[in-house]
Amino acid sequence: MALVSDGSARTFCQICRAECGMIVQVEDGKVLRVEGDPEDRWSRGKLCVKGRNAAEILYAKDRVLHPLLRVTKGGPFRRVCWEDAIDFIASRLEDLKERWGPEALAFYRGTTAKVVDGSVLERLAKLYGTPNVTGTWSVCVGPKILAYSHTFGRPPMPWCDLKNADYMILWGVSPVATHLHRYHGISADITEARRRGARLVVIDPRRLPIAAKAETYIQIRPGTDLAMALAMISHIIKSGLYDEEFVSAHTIGFDKLTEHVTPYTPRWAERITDVPASVIAEVATGFATTRPASLDRRQGVQHCRNATQTLRAMAILVAITGNVDIRGGLMLTPYRRLKSLAVPKDLPQRAKSFWQDRFPLARDASSLLPDAILSERPYPIRGLVVIEGNPMSCFANTGKVRQALAKLDLVVVHDLFMNDTTEFADLVLPACTFLEKGEISVQSLRTDYPVRTRTPVVEPQGEALPEWRWLSLLGRRLGYGQHFPFHSDQQALDAVLSEAGWTGREPATPTNHGQVLKDGFTTPSSKIELYSQSLEEQGHDPLPAAPLEWPKGDSYPYHLITGARVPHFYHSQHRNVPALRKGHPEPLAEISQSLASKLCVNDGDEVSIETRVGAAAFRVRATNDIHPLTISIPHGWAGAHNANWLVDDVDCDPLSATPPFRDMRCRVRKL
Ligand code: SF4
Repeated sequence: MALVSDGSARTFCQICRAECGMIVQVEDGKVLRVEGDPEDRWSRGKLCVKGRNAAEILYAKDRVLHPLLRVTKGGPFRRVCWEDAIDFIASRLEDLKERWGPEALAFYRGTTAKVVDGSVLERLAKLYGTPNVTGTWSVCVGPKILAYSHTFGRPPMPWCDLKNADYMILWGVSPVATHLHRYHGISADITEARRRGARLVVIDPRRLPIAAKAETYIQIRPGTDLAMALAMISHIIKSGLYDEEFVSAHTIGFDKLTEHVTPYTPRWAERITDVPASVIAEVATGFATTRPASLDRRQGVQHCRNATQTLRAMAILVAITGNVDIRGGLMLTPYRRLKSLAVPKDLPQRAKSFWQDRFPLARDASSLLPDAILSERPYPIRGLVVIEGNPMSCFANTGKVRQALAKLDLVVVHDLFMNDTTEFADLVLPACTFLEKGEISVQSLRTDYPVRTRTPVVEPQGEALPEWRWLSLLGRRLGYGQHFPFHSDQQALDAVLSEAGWTGREPATPTNHGQVLKDGFTTPSSKIELYSQSLEEQGHDPLPAAPLEWPKGDSYPYHLITGARVPHFYHSQHRNVPALRKGHPEPLAEISQSLASKLCVNDGDEVSIETRVGAAAFRVRATNDIHPLTISIPHGWAGAHNANWLVDDVDCDPLSATPPFRDMRCRVRKL
């Protein structure tokens, strides 16, 4: 742990993946104060409200500090020692394997389990024999990875060089509420670009604070981004505004694309998107004729029913305008390869993961887990180990999650606090905050970031253990002792670093503009694949097809978007921390003033929001800053306010298995 001049520790926050630089003042083994590290290149001395309250989380009175075992299913917990807890899990896992096979065990990792923990977990799962290690891939980066890899090849880490752009589109991006380092970076970059005269367009059903900086704000109908992107492509090609030289040198499939998008005119898209055809044409023209141009898109478009094809259309838009791998455009940074911890080569062949037949392109599809448990297809799943995650709050279709968790023979949860998933747990294990454990920065996977590591700042509270440590104890107890030789955070870090071939001190390598264009893309054709043969071979549209439309005369007349972020909480966490909760005491449904009048509801009135899947109750806040037929609710709340009671787990993006968190229909009733 690096020390600054007064003896404080220099580290980085890992409450979320932004990993802001942090200086922690420790006295007598206790954290006295945390502050932002002004020397951190990305966060520039700032911490969000969660980071500033890291000590409140560390010393929270309601933390789980000891292993807790239920005497009977659904009965009260009793405190046990770690040895008994590990014995309990090991004997249940041995029994599960014997009766149902190793694939009957699934692991789920939430967003807090990082590089070292993930590597140790992967090794344990392989040794035990289960392929079912799931996480947040399909609800986070999945559509982006599939869309970009089927367009530009792998391994690209796409990012927008907004600082040097002359035309910027932010599409479904809310940098103020999420990933602070991005906010400071984006804000500063946009401000600088605007000072130079760059134009900014913001597209979102909600008028986000970032829209105040924009020349053009477009209030699009939720779930219709693909229609707008197709219409922009169509307009650019029809008007001859594409970059002919770039297209001919670096892409394949342009002729097929041209034919494909001909019917998708701005006039066609106006009916679907509620964006006037003239505005679509104007933005398309501006994007195509102002060089360089950047298009940044985030969860706002990644959570729709056809997320991967929407992102493919946006990638094509960037490609035909020649804004790839140029200063001010879309940059493709290579990944640093992280090798998994080795396992013996002669392990028995593992079964296919439970999602593989239905979503063969998805790296994981955790949202399908409840369905797999209940249907027992492709095989029975009887045990679940949850590592710092909360399926009850975060998986789509809470009603189904509840039934599935209740059906399991074994549920183990490792977490900082009790939550609505621990209600179903047979065993709850005490986890560490980031200040109590070592880790490798997840940003180390990008070559334009340095490899960074941290060691613990203070000793764990109570009997809390980091994930890697209790998983290693379990591995040893299951008889895989020689594969878990780590006994300290440093040893675990060193093992993962050495397997990856890293020293932990690798510097950042700036991404060179033009390098990929020179070397060729890592697609089968070595070009940008506007038309994707590989998707076609997998039975998917090789070109993004017209978006799905909702049936006419539907009894669910309004659009529902869930998951609007607030800076006080990270997904389902932190509502129990008073300093954070007071900044955002209750979840509110945002609806337009016109819809509020139609429904005869005022601010503070409670409404029931219903979809085909379920219902949830929220108080209303009326605003003029949302699409008139749209209701927006936050996610991560427990009980009746859990947005996921409403989310369909079956009508997912057909490529990535991403549930339609931001693309549903609902009806509303005043309570
Ligand atoms: S944005 Fe906040 S929670 Fe995330 S790393 Fe930075 S300080 Fe921590």
